[in-house]
Amino acid sequence: MILFKQAKNLTDHIAQLKKEGKTIGFVPTMGALHDGHLSLLSGASKEADIVICSIFINPTQFNNADDFNKYPTIIEQDIDQLVSSDCDILFLPSREEIYPENYVAPHYELGALETVLEGRYRPGHFQGVCQVVDRLLQIVDPEFLLLGQKDYQQCKVIQKLLSTTERTNTSLIISPTIREKDGLAMSSRNLRLSKEQRAKASALYLTLQQAQIDFKTIPVTEIKYKAFQELTKKGFRVDYFEIVSATTLQPSNGFPDPMIALVGAYIDDIRLIDNLPLN
Ligand code: AMP
Repeated sequence: MILFKQAKNLTDHIAQLKKEGKTIGFVPTMGALHDGHLSLLSGASKEADIVICSIFINPTQFNNADDFNKYPTIIEQDIDQLVSSDCDILFLPSREEIYPENYVAPHYELGALETVLEGRYRPGHFQGVCQVVDRLLQIVDPEFLLLGQKDYQQCKVIQKLLSTTERTNTSLIISPTIREKDGLAMSSRNLRLSKEQRAKASALYLTLQQAQIDFKTIPVTEIKYKAFQELTKKGFRVDYFEIVSATTLQPSNGFPDPMIALVGAYIDDIRLIDNLPLN
């Protein structure tokens, strides 16, 4: 595996690879890698000749300074994992490489996508996500971009970014959510959970599964109410538990759209998200 810290050096290297006819699969991450990230790298290696992973904790997507400061960093462990994974190149930029002094943040037109669900509770978050992904795509120019379904709304936002920036040479591939044995979606933030918090955390997935069962027989408003009650009883502070169109992320009468349940909730000061398609 080759490690690049400077965007210019990476771009030059990629230009050479492209001259040789090689295709690039790209997996952007914020590090503290787990099997979810590794599954994206493995997916990238099936699609492309060269797999590139980036690790950059993007300050502009954090709307809460405490969340940013407490975000787990285990870079040595990450590098060890990547060396024995499908990764060919690691891009580990400094903040200045991504946001040089002359950087002016564009405004990305995301419409209602950025004001619902996560967007409602994390104002500015998706603008920050677009800033970093747009910059990384300019540097890496991949044929394939791999994202996890775990961050479903983020996938929708990046799909929109690709179409509005006319990045037609990059195909988006959405990879399934990888879970722990008890169903908890793998996440770097899980490292922050104490033993007691970890024991509670699987309730998030169990509630989504219950919603999937109830969806066949119970009206959406009742399912949402039941889920709120259940999660609150288990000690969560729920930002949202929504059932929306999987295409638009807007409420829908359920036909003909496929529907998805999404949840964002806190255990103490740790915020977790998850989702499950319902039909
Ligand atoms: P992050 O490092 O949390 O920014 O995530 C980097 C990428 O990994 C994003 O595309 C995430 O959606 C994806 N990812 C995170 N957790 C999982 C998971 N449990 N299963 C699959 N993909 C994931």
